Amino acid sequence: MRFWMSLIGSGLLLSEAAAADSVVWHPKARTFDMNVRAMGLEQLLGVIKAETGWEVLVEPGLKGRVEVKFRNKSAADAMRFLLGDKRFSLVPRTKGGTRLMVYESNLRGATQKVASEMLAYEAEPLAPGADDGRLLTLKVKVHHLKSSFASINADSKLTNIRPLLAGVNELWQSANIRFVADRPVPMRAADRDAEKAFAGLFKPGVSATAVAQLQSRILHKMLPDLPDRGKVFHIVVIYTMPRAYGAVYLPAKGMVLMPQVKFAALVDADGVWKDGSPVFFAQSNILAHEMGHSLSLPHVATQGNLMIDGKLREGGGVGPGNKLAAKQIIAARRQAFTGGPYVPGLNPRPTKPAPPKSPED
Ligand SMILES: [Zn+2]
Repeated sequence: MRFWMSLIGSGLLLSEAAAADSVVWHPKARTFDMNVRAMGLEQLLGVIKAETGWEVLVEPGLKGRVEVKFRNKSAADAMRFLLGDKRFSLVPRTKGGTRLMVYESNLRGATQKVASEMLAYEAEPLAPGADDGRLLTLKVKVHHLKSSFASINADSKLTNIRPLLAGVNELWQSANIRFVADRPVPMRAADRDAEKAFAGLFKPGVSATAVAQLQSRILHKMLPDLPDRGKVFHIVVIYTMPRAYGAVYLPAKGMVLMPQVKFAALVDADGVWKDGSPVFFAQSNILAHEMGHSLSLPHVATQGNLMIDGKLREGGGVGPGNKLAAKQIIAARRQAFTGGPYVPGLNPRPTKPAPPKSPED
């Protein structure tokens, strides 16, 4: 008996050791959780760049391997810990975001841009059973929409969804739900006429009412029906949306559609664009709100709540709040237990709690 127990014990240790490296960034708290086994320092800095959206510059020839495991370390402490005797500067800037520079003796030595490196995260399998409040990790597939129309075609170099998703995860922490994203893949718009109609929504003279009336139907024609809708969460990045739409959840498609650039406008008939504020990275609460819809939550009228109806929001343009009520957490977790987003007909809202663990018989 004892022998078997010890075998089981070592088996558990082995599978834990095989767990993937992870770097989790909490943008509001500005802290990291890291669990990394023997990774090249430059590669790890590339991962940090991908997760945080920071600009990272190093002195050429940077060497070193890192093995770290910690939780809740402030950004500066985490860097001190990783970089050991190397010097660094970590400066938040209003334009261009935070910049990390790593060097041996002189700041001016940090001239080489580190390339973004994305870790592949796997969602942990959802073990059935009663909801005991455990962490639920949900898999998200990210797509960049491709089209010959400028208003639709997302530039895959422009948008890194990960820092945004880090903000989403921070907001969903109170429900102990985490979204983990794959590397983005291109997606082709599905219907040429619908693409043309969508591009037409930006023409001068198209009223807000017309956009509101037409947009949904056009989008449903333009976006493909993914075979795994209802089973996996999808975020589709589009170049822009008319009338400064922040993002939208399309239940029938099981996807959140998210513009790369807000307030973009067509300034002349030859297709010349003027980009408004690229507020993308400020929109994690908007994406978190849409993920709430994907987790079956309807709008509420409570100020400060994540799911507040945009029309009822005070201080327009500020975006939704960040609070979730206990009832919302229960409903969202019920949906999360299905492993996929709310898609009417395919993956409906569960009305009952997750089934309890099988009785001991
Ligand atoms: Zn909404």
